[in-house]
Amino acid sequence: MHCPFCSADDTKVIDSRLVADGDAVRRRRECQVCGERFTTFETAELVMPRLIKRDGTHEPFDDEKLKVSLTKALEKRPVSVDQIETALGHIKHRLRSTGERELPSLRVGEEVMAELRQLDPVAYVRFASVYRDFQDVSEFTEEIQKLSTDNERS
Ligand SMILES: [Zn+2]
Repeated sequence: MHCPFCSADDTKVIDSRLVADGDAVRRRRECQVCGERFTTFETAELVMPRLIKRDGTHEPFDDEKLKVSLTKALEKRPVSVDQIETALGHIKHRLRSTGERELPSLRVGEEVMAELRQLDPVAYVRFASVYRDFQDVSEFTEEIQKLSTDNERS
């Protein structure tokens, strides 16, 4: 890369080490022209897929929005902020690992539900009832029945 001091093309890496638990590489570089030294950080660019809404329009993935809906679903439930953060991490990881550049926004909802189901059944039903836009009560009852069957199994 160019030297930030004199814009020369020729800079040399003189030291390279892993930082942030191996999530980043820190490189010390030296300009071969003016001799100035500088540091660069290299991290993976983790791009979230864009979301396709039900009406076909696109929207960028919104970290904050996801956190708000999770937090809302888990309101007054015995789940810590750390657990919410971890759940968020899982959801984002799974969305990224699809490798898709675009995903139906419904898919995010499915991931949230999968995560809530593990975390807190009450919050799960709470979220599912809002998110899935239940057509009628029987659908909602079905969800609850599925839940109790799961609980019996475990
Ligand atoms: Zn230079």
